[in-house]
Amino acid sequence: MRAALLEALAGIVGPAQVLRDGDLSAYEADWRKRWRGRALAVVRPGSTAEVAAVVRACAAHGTTIVPQGGNTGLVGGGVPDASGTQVLLSLQRLNRVRSLDAANLTLTVESGCVLQAAQQAAAAAGLLLPLSLAAEGSCTVGGNLATNAGGTQVLRWGNARELCLGLEVVTAAGDVWDGLTGLRKDNTGYDLRDLFIGSEGTLGIITAATLKLAPQPAAVVTAFAACGSLEGCVRLLALARARLGSGLTGFEVMGRFALELVARHFPQLPRPLPAAQWTVLLEASDVEGEAEARARFESLLGAALQDGMVADAVVAESLAQSKALWHVRESIPLAQAEEGLNIKHDISLPVSAIPRFVERTDAELATRWPGVRLVNFGHLGDGNLHYNVQAPEGADAKRFLADEEHAVNRVVFDAVAACGGSFSAEHGIGALKRDELAARKSPVALGLMRAIKAALDPQGLLNPGRLL
Ligand code: FAD
Ligand code: ZN
Repeated sequence: MRAALLEALAGIVGPAQVLRDGDLSAYEADWRKRWRGRALAVVRPGSTAEVAAVVRACAAHGTTIVPQGGNTGLVGGGVPDASGTQVLLSLQRLNRVRSLDAANLTLTVESGCVLQAAQQAAAAAGLLLPLSLAAEGSCTVGGNLATNAGGTQVLRWGNARELCLGLEVVTAAGDVWDGLTGLRKDNTGYDLRDLFIGSEGTLGIITAATLKLAPQPAAVVTAFAACGSLEGCVRLLALARARLGSGLTGFEVMGRFALELVARHFPQLPRPLPAAQWTVLLEASDVEGEAEARARFESLLGAALQDGMVADAVVAESLAQSKALWHVRESIPLAQAEEGLNIKHDISLPVSAIPRFVERTDAELATRWPGVRLVNFGHLGDGNLHYNVQAPEGADAKRFLADEEHAVNRVVFDAVAACGGSFSAEHGIGALKRDELAARKSPVALGLMRAIKAALDPQGLLNPGRLL
């Protein structure tokens, strides 16, 4: 059976693209090194037709498939289980830019196209693909859509879902659904595109997408502002929205300990402001020009300083300085990985509830686990916090995770629920939060999800054991 499937797969994609030997950890272990599985084979098709043929061959043999893009996912959704029976379907070779329509402001790329390459294709035409996350140098557009990725520009442009107009998908039956449209309006029945977005490889294999572009702004200016409290950050957000309107394109918050970790593990990075309880990264984009952007920004920060919501602020003087400020923010996930394993919570809350949530939950965690360290940062403009819990200094992080993760999650997720929030804002469910979904989603919602899964993948071939 296995030999026959492997031979069929080699016949479809060529023997060189069916990997079985050597070090396959780049495919079989996840980015956080929390999951390590073993695939029957890593299969790397080079076209949509090959993806469809691979799916048909796997279906004929009853072999399950784990789709994978850049393997930067944080919830263990894109790596095989330990059984050695699953086909790891890597989309990395489907990486072509198919077309760009400047007048329609759309870009069509294959799903294995690395996000940064898609951004560059847009920029080469003087346009902006406004999806940006720290993993953009390796994550793929297909992975972004399969997880409905967020990132740092959601407050202005929305999640990956809002940026996607059309999809091409290989179904679990091995058919190709060509839904590649650049239309902004198309009310012709159920929205199939939106079903596949965020489905984490459980409903179909995304092979290409048509994405929305925007004009490049004439200028982008970045600043750091130090706040004594989260209330101050929330008030600054309201002021920035009022003053900058749609010109506010980034509003990220970083807790003191998160920045301490960056300083510890990346001492070469700048420290633009003295340590504060909270530091906000603001980004303003302007259609007019740099001088206008800077003036609006300085007047905003001046007002915030005068009001006392901000204690100190610095505006980047150049593009290089702007990039350096972003680099500090984007180094937080890497710095905490250097510091050791931690318990990650990717939560969303009404922005107004965030200060109260953090104050109460910090206090409860500190009482139950004395010395516990909170790496708190995130996309405050979207109400999305990465509220991560690190073992006390000097403690065995692996042990802490094994013994305490469940109880810590309970404290955090109960507090999130009490504030009307979500336990998964942007990273998805994968293997990590499957039990949480089963326990916290309403039975009606779960029933509808299972019905959709059964209708689109009746054999349960696509990414089993993930999400549902
Ligand atoms: P993978 O990890 O390969 O796969 C993710 C999931 O999608 C898996 O379930 C997989 O089966 C499925 N999948 C992948 N490709 C396809 C396809 N073509 N068709 C069907 N299913 C598919 N996420 C955010 O939302 N916001 C952030 O700010 C953010 N920052 C990050 C920073 C770092 C440093 C890292 C490592 C990750 C970050 N992430 C973030 C998480 C991750 O980058 C995103 O989820 C990303 O969108 C995953 O893309 P990928 O190509 O690596 O997908
Ligand atoms: Zn994030």
